[in-house]
Amino acid sequence: MFMAPVSLERSTAPTGFALALGLCFALLLAATAAAQGPRQLKPGWNLFSKDQDIQLGKEAAAQVEKQYTVVRDEALVQYIRRIGAKLASTPEAGGYPYSFQVVADKSINAFALPGGPAFVHTGLLAAADNEAQVAGVLAHEISHVALRHGTSQASKANLFQLPALLASGMLGKSGSMLGQLAQLGIGLGTNSVLLKFSRTAESDADLLGTRIMAKAGYNPLEMARFFEKLEASGGARGPQFLSDHPNPGNRVKAVETEIGYLPRSSYTTGSANEFARIQKLAAAVPVPPPKQAASAQPTAAPSMPQIPVSRTIREYRASAYAISYPDNWQATAAQKSQGVTLAPREGYVQGSGGGYSIGAGAVVDFASKTGDLNRDTAGLLQKLAGENADMRTQEPSKSTRVNGQPALVTILQSRSPFAGETEVDTLVTVERPEGLFFVVLIAPQSMVRNMQGAFDAMLRSIRFSPAASR
Ligand SMILES: [Zn+2]
Repeated sequence: MFMAPVSLERSTAPTGFALALGLCFALLLAATAAAQGPRQLKPGWNLFSKDQDIQLGKEAAAQVEKQYTVVRDEALVQYIRRIGAKLASTPEAGGYPYSFQVVADKSINAFALPGGPAFVHTGLLAAADNEAQVAGVLAHEISHVALRHGTSQASKANLFQLPALLASGMLGKSGSMLGQLAQLGIGLGTNSVLLKFSRTAESDADLLGTRIMAKAGYNPLEMARFFEKLEASGGARGPQFLSDHPNPGNRVKAVETEIGYLPRSSYTTGSANEFARIQKLAAAVPVPPPKQAASAQPTAAPSMPQIPVSRTIREYRASAYAISYPDNWQATAAQKSQGVTLAPREGYVQGSGGGYSIGAGAVVDFASKTGDLNRDTAGLLQKLAGENADMRTQEPSKSTRVNGQPALVTILQSRSPFAGETEVDTLVTVERPEGLFFVVLIAPQSMVRNMQGAFDAMLRSIRFSPAASR
């Protein structure tokens, strides 16, 4: 499995960095000033636009629908949609295109994706005491969407790489956003930066959730009571919901204080009879084995997709070099170096940690150099082995030429991120004024033959720019 080492060592700070720090500092001051009275709740600093939140949510929801079993029971679905619609129509919800679905899963969880798609597990319906508690979870999730916590966290975690990626016009190309973000390790897996929130975000979502519930006529205390009930019943090894939504402390008290700022109102917890009927329906939903677990079995192995290799090529140009690649692959430039990843979307594989690795494609970049091709290549191999524990040298380095320059080609073997596959990585290195130029051509063993032609053409296409005077 090739975890791209792209541009970890170089760090020329883009000018945007100083600006970003300035903004964070300003936000901090604003937060301190508003310590008294009802808290001003506004979305935090964010590199994504609202439209990009919505697009990301759409793509992520499509992935969720593939991974989970979405419940089709009309009565259940209508019930969740009715509650959701009431909450989503409050001005505090920010006018996002919310959608609400039920997932057949006994674990106590619910989650919302940027821009509005929300999912509730049948296990959460079973654990709630009344409709208001379900509404509380949804109001809390809606608040994360409206306050844009997921993309704000992703922005802060990727100050350097995100701006160019977001500016690269991925809006409009349908289905492209998740794949691009995947390269920064932003996905939907465990501990995803999009779904696991800070305690500050939790406390803000509780407060906004309180306001949303109150507007919709639900007793906001039920939200905090439900979270505390989960905490009390589960302890440290409680449901997934609590690890994604860590307790900011004193939830009930904070909600009570917030209710005090709101206009007096009478609240409902919903119809007890109807809720009992819904819980029965939820309990009756058959829970299939998780789809991901099924795909981990060697016999199922659907994970090896068709890797499309177009014969038409296009050229990628960096200032130090140019390389051609199949025109149905994507080129994603590294943000801190002249490197680029050239891969089909099918070549990215999401790991259990939520990050992505490249299972088929090519990575081009520069590593540090001393001027000795053999020594520098050995240094790079050592670094790659450090980052990819199961990487072995299959064939030792041999001399070759790239664009007329002396080069080394080394064949490596590692575990492919595709189920049941071994991966073959072809490393080609050339000394250049900018550093040790390298290309890693990545293919699962069963695809090596199919990809060989494209890889050879890529290597032949490499043109180095004459060294600029520096
Ligand atoms: Zn939360």
